[in-house]
Amino acid sequence: MKISNTYIAGNLIDEPTGINFNLINPANENQYGTLLCSSVDQVNQAVKSAKENEKVAANISIVKRIDVLQSINDQIEVRRKEFAEAMTLEMGAPITLTSNAHIQMGTDHLINTISELKKYKFEEKYDGYKVFKMPIGVSALITPWNWPLNQTLTKIASAIAAGCPIILKPSEYSPVSSRLLIDVIDNSALPKGCFNCINGIGSEIGPIISTHPDIKMISFTGSTIAGIDIQEKAAKTVKRVSLELGGKSAHIVCEGVDLNAVIPNAINQCFINSGQSCSAPTRLLIPEVSINNIKNIIVNHIKTLIFNDPNNENTTHGPVVNKKQYNTIQEFIKSGIDEGYEIVTGGLGNPDNCNSGYFIRPTVFINVDNSATIAQEEIFGPVLSIISYSSIDNAIDIANNSKYGLSNYITCLDYDDGYNIAKRIHSGQSIINKIGRGSVPAPFGGFKLSGNGREHGKYGLEEYLEIKAII
Ligand code: NAD
Repeated sequence: MKISNTYIAGNLIDEPTGINFNLINPANENQYGTLLCSSVDQVNQAVKSAKENEKVAANISIVKRIDVLQSINDQIEVRRKEFAEAMTLEMGAPITLTSNAHIQMGTDHLINTISELKKYKFEEKYDGYKVFKMPIGVSALITPWNWPLNQTLTKIASAIAAGCPIILKPSEYSPVSSRLLIDVIDNSALPKGCFNCINGIGSEIGPIISTHPDIKMISFTGSTIAGIDIQEKAAKTVKRVSLELGGKSAHIVCEGVDLNAVIPNAINQCFINSGQSCSAPTRLLIPEVSINNIKNIIVNHIKTLIFNDPNNENTTHGPVVNKKQYNTIQEFIKSGIDEGYEIVTGGLGNPDNCNSGYFIRPTVFINVDNSATIAQEEIFGPVLSIISYSSIDNAIDIANNSKYGLSNYITCLDYDDGYNIAKRIHSGQSIINKIGRGSVPAPFGGFKLSGNGREHGKYGLEEYLEIKAII
């Protein structure tokens, strides 16, 4: 299949004139299609279309913005199966995960943004002056492949809610779901030209976006290295650059909790989506008195995970997205072995039942020092490092001793204890006694090298607004 994601001023360009990018099914390594990439000229045309529609987007009434978001949501609900199959094909996540969490996380952003729009005050009166919040204008949204609908929809929902025209640049590894999303938005009442899409290899077409004088704002989710490149290149045009980057989140398990229940949940949270989640708690912090009692719990739980064909309804974990990612993860597992850390389960190579495809053996290292490569670097695969701590102060130091600061998790007997720990952790989110973030529209974003932006709900919307004082 040939896929185009080049959609400019309401027209899908069937044969964009950039290079061809081979699309490989990560579950079997076969080519399933070709992405026809946007050319430089087509990227510039997409920006021109968005710029010509700045006033149109800004003048869309709040009622109509809500209608558009609702229509996008409703169409995705009707086409759930197509979206799920697309994401399973392109990035290898199990069909049960794409049919549920992958779609739900995306549509939740639409519904949460609608709720926010119904109450948000674009104009506020203070002592002697007014504050008026205006759309920032042409916004480029650059997204990764790992939770494709979640990441595209949180940005699209906020930008439409704010009244900004959009140029979406989805990942070249998730063009099938992006193509469906183009259809859905084309069928909504959003005026043509207020949403445009381009796609291609990030390092090639990305810099055109980063340096373009007509783009006012870039919202980027992806690797820290690409985020830094964007921010450097965008500096000359003084764009707003909102970055959502990598992570190495800690999960602090406090003394006294039931480890038979907590350890399986901690592993599930780390390994969901085959470990390809920016907020995955990849450092599990266990009281030193308990650390040697958990090996059996780990081994028994890992035996229940099914790494296999992602189209099979029983599969719990699919492959990782591509060969490059597979090789990187193997290198990290090797570094853990070379640095002398004990493996409880897993290791190098593919699981026994998966000879082809980019499948990784679910790997748990124990008694890892926080200075280890596997404890400091984002691996982005099903690899967990378990670290012991001597006191809560020590656990907090370990959690904070990271160049990243995206999320962290606390499991404890008493909520107030968890709350006091949460306040001391340098990360954008702390999740207490809960598995996953759910659909809460709480602000999401990072400290340190995890980024500088906030997404979802009110704070996500405000990323696309300029603040004007009227005195
Ligand atoms: P990536 O940085 O390789 O690519 C992300 C997007 O940026 C893609 O669309 C890509 O084409 C584009 N891109 C790449 N280089 C670019 C450049 N120089 N200029 C402009 N655009 C460029 O990341 P990925 O491999 O797709 O995603 C995995 C990374 O994303 C991980 O590091 C993960 O932690 C991070 N991530 C962060 C969050 C968050 O909210 N903080 C969420 C999901 C993923």
